Amino acid sequence: MDELRKDPTRGHWVLIRPAGKGSSSGDCPYCPGAEDLAGPEIAAYRKDGSPPNGPGWSVRVVPEGDAYFRIEWELVREGVGMFDMLTPRGASELVVESPRHDDTLATMAPEALEAVLWMYRDRLVDLKRDSQIRDILVSRRHRKPGVPPHHPYSRLSAIPIVFDEMRRELREAREYYQYKRRCLYCDMLRQEIAAQERVVRLTSAFAALVPYAARGPLETWILPRQHGCSFEEGLTAETARDLARLLSDYFRTLAAGLGDPGYEMVLHTAPNLRSRILQGDWATIRDDYHWHLEVVVQPEHANRVGGIFVNETAPEVSAGRLRDAWPRVSGEG
Ligand SMILES: [Zn+2]
Ligand SMILES: [Zn+2]
Repeated sequence: MDELRKDPTRGHWVLIRPAGKGSSSGDCPYCPGAEDLAGPEIAAYRKDGSPPNGPGWSVRVVPEGDAYFRIEWELVREGVGMFDMLTPRGASELVVESPRHDDTLATMAPEALEAVLWMYRDRLVDLKRDSQIRDILVSRRHRKPGVPPHHPYSRLSAIPIVFDEMRRELREAREYYQYKRRCLYCDMLRQEIAAQERVVRLTSAFAALVPYAARGPLETWILPRQHGCSFEEGLTAETARDLARLLSDYFRTLAAGLGDPGYEMVLHTAPNLRSRILQGDWATIRDDYHWHLEVVVQPEHANRVGGIFVNETAPEVSAGRLRDAWPRVSGEG
């Protein structure tokens, strides 16, 4: 049986599980016509009203084959002597972003990207109805070394704890707010927009910038300019269109202007606010946390010494490279 075990010396969680089954035959299970290979459809957008588990979809959500987290498992919290253990009850889903096998976020039309954003929202809203799910990670990997090119999808991991990195981020935001009574990210946005040197692009609703302490070259954060703690509440007809356009331009800039590097995009949004464990959990989160997207380019190349990232490209230089490559690909001149 799989277990989430807590390392009490570091306070972080480790998933202990037997090795997975690995992928099967050569046929892509995510291409139209192969729907029966991917497991029962969880959700899909179908303009033509076609029935589930067949072709006709534009975005489709299916269970991940060798899932880390499963909804059918019972949630058990247990003390094992001095240690803490949890069963990995949750969900592992793939958002299949396009029916076209060779699409990437750089080749998809902004309208198609917008549909993917709406599907993220739909899945977050649905999964957060389950109060045993505490946190949901939405991530998107492009060109991971050692992984052959595959059908475009994002991964959704819903778990009964708050992800370690998210917990640290939430704590920093809360402490900043307790001290200053302002949102850390709103303050950061104000300062970065005024200084401009790390700003890559500003739209009416979003700012794309290279963070002050970027962990690697070209790391980019995309933040809504209007404060809000959760993606699913922040997505409106207007912001979705704006964000899809910005992401499309950004990924085309990486692909066409900067050598198409691999990347990981992660959505940072509030955990499930229905799943309070302690009194006072998330008491100020609506004011202290600010949802956003983070893109780390070639995370496998991260250089670290004793946990400290070493970035050999100044964030200001990365921002300049992104700005210079941008107009060439977006056609905005
Ligand atoms: Zn495919
Ligand atoms: Zn804010």
